[in-house]
Amino acid sequence: CKTAARPRVLLLCSPCMGHLIPFAELARRLVADHGLSTTLLFASATSPPSEQYLAVAAAVPDAVDLIALPAPPPDALPPATAARERAELAVASNVPRVREIARELGAAAPLVALVVDMVGAAAARDVAAELGVPFYAFFTSPWMTLSLLLRLPEIDAARAGEHRDAAEPIRLPGCVPIHAHELPTSMLADRSSSAYAGFLSMAKGVAGVDGVLVNTFRELEPAVGGDGRLQLPVYPVGPLVWTRPAGVDTDHECMSWLDGQPRGSVAYVSFGSGGTITWQQTAELALGLELSQCRFIWAIKRPHQSSTIAAFFGTQRGDEHSPLDFLPEGFMERTRGMGLVAQSWAPQTAILGHPSIGCFVTHCGWNSVLESVINGVPMVAWPLYAEQNMNAAMMEVQVGVALRAKVGADRFIRKDEVANAIRRAIVGEEAERLRKRSSELRRQSAQALSKDGCSTRALAQIANAWKCASRK
Ligand code: UDP
Repeated sequence: CKTAARPRVLLLCSPCMGHLIPFAELARRLVADHGLSTTLLFASATSPPSEQYLAVAAAVPDAVDLIALPAPPPDALPPATAARERAELAVASNVPRVREIARELGAAAPLVALVVDMVGAAAARDVAAELGVPFYAFFTSPWMTLSLLLRLPEIDAARAGEHRDAAEPIRLPGCVPIHAHELPTSMLADRSSSAYAGFLSMAKGVAGVDGVLVNTFRELEPAVGGDGRLQLPVYPVGPLVWTRPAGVDTDHECMSWLDGQPRGSVAYVSFGSGGTITWQQTAELALGLELSQCRFIWAIKRPHQSSTIAAFFGTQRGDEHSPLDFLPEGFMERTRGMGLVAQSWAPQTAILGHPSIGCFVTHCGWNSVLESVINGVPMVAWPLYAEQNMNAAMMEVQVGVALRAKVGADRFIRKDEVANAIRRAIVGEEAERLRKRSSELRRQSAQALSKDGCSTRALAQIANAWKCASRK
């Protein structure tokens, strides 16, 4: 419940649904389990905020005060600007407002910490210093990515040439080797580009926070925090995901359809809140689903010819009303009864929790991975952008709960491979092995968040430290 005198944590999230969802869960836990109150600021990318945001915001528990900050003017950056740079500007342009809100809140109750998204963190550092409160980051991607960020300044100084041309993989303690083609999008960019410069400067900025909360857990990433030379306190507090669907009703038509399907028989296909594939790839995926003869639910987005992130930042709106003219002719008729196409925001967490689901064809956004993990659902990895290639490698090679769809030299995944990967994940010996490992990991994820679990204890430790510091 909201109590004015409770110490308050101020959280600042960049404009990505995939960040807002775990931020809201972190805020909810600080309130429900640790006697704190929270204000969560969301830096919008569009004005008015996107329909997706409004739907998710409506589902954020009342105990969390959520405030949407205004978006920068649409023409503030050239159209081709990278997504991360846009997100950073959305945070940076709101720093004066964050300062104002922090002062107002601080006058009513002690403000005990500022927790920021790694994207845009640097812009808020001065606010924490002025307020005299601890400055923490919440990292909504895995430890492996954070580990890479922490090493990047060193790698950058030592390397000549482009990262994408490196013959040797990057080896981080306790992580799978990262091959050049698996690097995060910003590292594949030219090293002279502003996209890369921004990424490097974000990497350098990590060292300046007082500590980092990471949305992972020890059994998933045993190496978390374990870089011998690391000075930074790291707290694995995950998996922080929503167990109720984010921003959509559970009486969505796909739930009753799932009730009628055999156990473990359905492939759920989704590329997250922003991911898009090309027209040709969308048609090929449709043909692959058909060829697999497996049941499916496809949370579909209108294709985009040149961008894998066209659905971010409102560049692709009104999806749910657009015609399905990009699907192969007759696809809907031929797959009637076998599959369901959801054009709007799908109730992903409820879908993944349904016993009829057999595998998740996913772009490997970190929330999607964690939601699959907590539900014990094996994955077919189809990474698109950001650090998703690394996530896919980790889930297949190190964790053993995914298989990666084979991508051709032309970056295209053919229909036979789509069908083959889905069938391998749902039927036969390999599927059995994936299921076994997935259910083991599911148990471990529940354990991490149980009353005495390591993630629960890590969050309690940090919440107590904030509360104690405020009493001094
Ligand atoms: N999501 C959802 N319904 C959809 C698409 C996405 O509920 O139709 C949620 C999904 O459950 C996850 C988040 O949006 O919590 C997407 O985050 P993720 O990190 O997987 O990918 P991103 O969208 O950031 O690329």
